[in-house]
Amino acid sequence: MSDELAPLPLEVLNPATEETVAIVPAATRDDVDAAVARAAAAQRGWAAAAPADRARLLRRFAAVVDGHTEELAQLEVREAGHTIGNARWEAGNVRDLLEFAAGGVERLSGRQIPVAGGIDVTFLEPLGVIGVIAPWNFPMPIAAWGLAPALAAGNAVILKPAETTPLTALRLAELALEAGIPEHLFQVLPGHGAVAGDALVEHPGVAKIVFTGSTRVGKQIMAKCADRVKRVTLELGGKSPNIVFADADLEAAAAAAPMAFLDNTGQDCCARTRILVQRSVYDRFLELVAPAIESVAVGDPLDENTQMGPLISRAQLDRVRSYVTADLTALRGKAPEGPGFWYPPTLVTDVAPTAPVAAEEVFGPVAVVLPFEDEEDAVRLANATAYGLSGSLWTRDIGRALRVSRAVAAGNLSVNSHSSVRYWTPFGGYKQSGLGRELGPDALTAFTETKNVFISTEA
Ligand code: NAD
Repeated sequence: MSDELAPLPLEVLNPATEETVAIVPAATRDDVDAAVARAAAAQRGWAAAAPADRARLLRRFAAVVDGHTEELAQLEVREAGHTIGNARWEAGNVRDLLEFAAGGVERLSGRQIPVAGGIDVTFLEPLGVIGVIAPWNFPMPIAAWGLAPALAAGNAVILKPAETTPLTALRLAELALEAGIPEHLFQVLPGHGAVAGDALVEHPGVAKIVFTGSTRVGKQIMAKCADRVKRVTLELGGKSPNIVFADADLEAAAAAAPMAFLDNTGQDCCARTRILVQRSVYDRFLELVAPAIESVAVGDPLDENTQMGPLISRAQLDRVRSYVTADLTALRGKAPEGPGFWYPPTLVTDVAPTAPVAAEEVFGPVAVVLPFEDEEDAVRLANATAYGLSGSLWTRDIGRALRVSRAVAAGNLSVNSHSSVRYWTPFGGYKQSGLGRELGPDALTAFTETKNVFISTEA
């Protein structure tokens, strides 16, 4: 035993009421060591099991999650303040990811490559123990993005949820056991980033880190992984453009723009927070978008009609406030008064593209509207950021849609829509929005090592 001091426990607050939901003990570095040893032992058995058996257990896990979607959704509302509609989708997304990954177990095959004097085959072997470090903004889906394909590819997983949102992760680990997933194959270690998260990154027994969170922490993790040549996937921040051309269906573009940055109270790495509008339709667009912003239903996340809930924490509220300074011109929607971390939908106009609110990730219900002149100017503005996660463009011109889609340096774009995340299509960032891809047809391959074997037929 080491003489490590116990880290402070995690206090989970309901962001809509500020009431304490739970106090959760935080994992120590010793806890991480013990979890890695247990995971490594469990992984050996799991990798040796018949693919069909692994697939069956993952489908069973999906079925158990399906039977608990309402419970998981209610828990997510309490710990993260998500609207109940969103939270139900998030729990369902875990089920869908597990089913999708289960379908890949028996299809995870290598190749046979023509060679002289023998045969050459490749094997896709599991990496071992995977550390998944998740953020608070989508606790369940993002945990499952790593968890489901990693297990399906024959690995063990240790999940460290964010400090503020450990509860759904802990419940998922219980449901995994209930479904018959072998003990210690999927463990959840709630804890502090600088303690439990860092211990996972530094641990020689963890083969890969899957990190979703801020670019600042992502860079630190990448540097530590580099020192150990540890595999790493990074899903980081964004400042995504929503480009509206004059030839677009302006009513449709204006109707969709608010929820494209207000969903999850703007705490979404794909939020379209830079609305770029062609100057000839700029005033008309603002006229159309203003009532849409004002009418967004902000309030009790458990009310089925609510479209936007509170921010996650007081710290996040202070951060968002600090961006919308008194000198800015802002159009504001409504937000409840009283306890809870509430901030109204806010659209900032007449601002320089280089102002902090227009250039940095706010991670709250705040967007800016910026005019552009022509296609070239739109692409220039869209790309004038260190980020490159998502983006949308609205036009009726198919040639332009394709040209601009190819010219914008971002991993996930949508035309005449704001959709960006489907579990069966690849997701990830360009530039400082990340490294590697998750989800999609190759999701399992990211959790394997390719081994090449040549067998001589001439011996
Ligand atoms: P964060 O980077 O502070 O924390 C994310 C996770 O990393 C948490 O679990 C935290 O405990 C852990 N962590 C913190 N310091 C660590 C360290 N030194 N070593 C190891 N782990 C550590 O981010 P956050 O505030 O929780 O989340 C918000 C940010 O995440 C936003 O910037 C957002 O853009 C980004 N994000 C990106 C995506 C994406 O897919 N690209 C998705 C969600 C969130």
